[in-house]
Amino acid sequence: MDNKSSGFLKNNLQLIYSIVLLIIIPGAIVGNSYLALRESRQLLDRELQQKAVFAETIFNVAVADFLDDKTALQTKIETIMAKDSEVKEINVLKFQNDQLKVLASSNKESLGVTLSSQVEKLNAMNAWINEVATATLVADNSTGKLQRYWVVVSPLYDGLSEKKAIVEMKGSLEEIDALAKKSLSSSMIILIITVIIVLALLVYHFRFVEYAALYRRLLEVDQMKDDFISIASHELKTPMAAIKGYLSMIFEGLGGKVDQKARGHLDKAFANVKRLDNLVNELLDVSRIEQGRIQFEMQAIDPVKVVEQIISELKVKADEKKLKIEYHPPAEPRPKIFVDPDRLGQILDNIIGNAIKYTLKGGITISHQIESSNLKIFIRDTGIGMNALDRQRLFEKFYRIQNEKTAAVPGTGLGLWITRELAHKMNAEIFVDSMENVGSQFTLVFPIIKEK
Ligand code: ADP
Repeated sequence: MDNKSSGFLKNNLQLIYSIVLLIIIPGAIVGNSYLALRESRQLLDRELQQKAVFAETIFNVAVADFLDDKTALQTKIETIMAKDSEVKEINVLKFQNDQLKVLASSNKESLGVTLSSQVEKLNAMNAWINEVATATLVADNSTGKLQRYWVVVSPLYDGLSEKKAIVEMKGSLEEIDALAKKSLSSSMIILIITVIIVLALLVYHFRFVEYAALYRRLLEVDQMKDDFISIASHELKTPMAAIKGYLSMIFEGLGGKVDQKARGHLDKAFANVKRLDNLVNELLDVSRIEQGRIQFEMQAIDPVKVVEQIISELKVKADEKKLKIEYHPPAEPRPKIFVDPDRLGQILDNIIGNAIKYTLKGGITISHQIESSNLKIFIRDTGIGMNALDRQRLFEKFYRIQNEKTAAVPGTGLGLWITRELAHKMNAEIFVDSMENVGSQFTLVFPIIKEK
C-alpha cells in the first residue's frame, strides 16, 4: 500500500468504521427479525400438522364402528364439521371396482364420485397401499387469494383392525395465517421504528466522530501554537541580548561620547527592550509550565534572604514613585520552607512588582505569620485595589483589569498565572484580598519544614 492510500485509510478509519456500523447494525436487526419470524411460522406450521394428525386419529377412533353404515358415517362427519371450524372438509373414500369413490363427505356434491385432484388421489393410494398416514401442507391460489391448508390422509380401520377405507381431512390455516399476518405487520412496525432509532443514533455517532476529529485538530493546533511561541521566544532572546549588550556598552561610554538628547532616546530604547525581554521570559515560562518542562531545585531555606534580595532589587522602582517598602521578618528562630529559591524570588518579584505598579501613593508592607504548620507571607499595598469580579478572574492567563487606572500600566496579564502555577508546583497556596481604592493583600502559604 502506498503512503497516500495508507494515509487516507488512517484519516478515514473513523468514517469507514461508522459506515460499517451503519450497514451492519440495521442489517443485523432486519436479518434477526426475518429469521425469528420464519422460525416461528415453521414452528406454528409443525404444531398445526400435529394437530391435524391428532384430529384425524380421533376421527379414526370415532368412526371405527360406523364404517359399514354410510348414513351414520355421514352424520358423524357433519357433527365434527359443526364443532370444529378449522376442519374445512372431510372425505371418507373406499375402493369400488378399482376406483376410489367418496363414501361420505362434508361436501355432499362429492358423494359417490372419485377424487378429482391427481395429488389427492396419489396420497389416498399411498395411504391405502402402504397403510401410512400423510400430512401435506397445500397452498391454493385458485380463488385469487392465497389459502393454505393441511391435508391429512390415512387408512381407516374397523373395530377388528381391518383396513376398511381412507379418510381425507382438510384443515384450514386461515385463522393462523391471519394471526401471523397481523403479528408480521406489528413486527414490521417495531422493526421500522428500531431501524429509524438506530439510524438516528448512528447519525449522532457521526456527529460525535466529527467533534472528536475537530477536538484532535484543536489539540494539534494548540500544540502548534505552543511550539510556535516557544520557538519564537527562544529566537527573540538572542537578538535582544545583543541589543541590550550594545546599549550597555554605549551607556558605559565605550562607543564614544553621547549627548544628553541621544541618551534620553537610548534610555527609552533600553526600557522598551527590557519590557520585550520580560514578555519573552513570561512567554517562555508559560510554555515550559504547560509542557511540564519547568525544573525546580528544591531546598529547605529561610525565605527572609530571598524577600530582602527582591526588595532591594525593586527599591529603585518604589523610590521613583515615592512609595515606602516596609518589611517585618519573622521572629527567631525562623522557620524554613522547602522551595526553589529562584522560583520563590520570581513569585515575590511579580507580587511586589505588581504592588509597586498598581499603587500610586502610600507603600507596600511585607510581613509574616506562622499558623499551625504553615508560614504565611503577606504583601499588602495601599494601591488601586480591585472589585470582587476582577478578583475572581485575576489568575487567568492573559487577564488584565481594564479601567482608566490600569490603562497606562504596561503588562501582559501572564504574571499572576505563572505565579500561581509556580506556587502550586512548590506545594504553596496563593490568596488575594482587595478593595477598590483601598488596596490589596496577596497571601502566600508555604508548609514549614520540621527540623529533626
Ligand atoms: P500584568 O502583567 O498585567 O501585571 P498580572 O498577571 O501580574 O499581569 O496581573 C493581572 C492583573 O491583575 C493586572 O493587570 C492588574 O490589573 C491586576 N493586579 C495585579 N496585582 C495588583 C495589585 N497589587 N493591585 C491592583 N491590581 C493588581
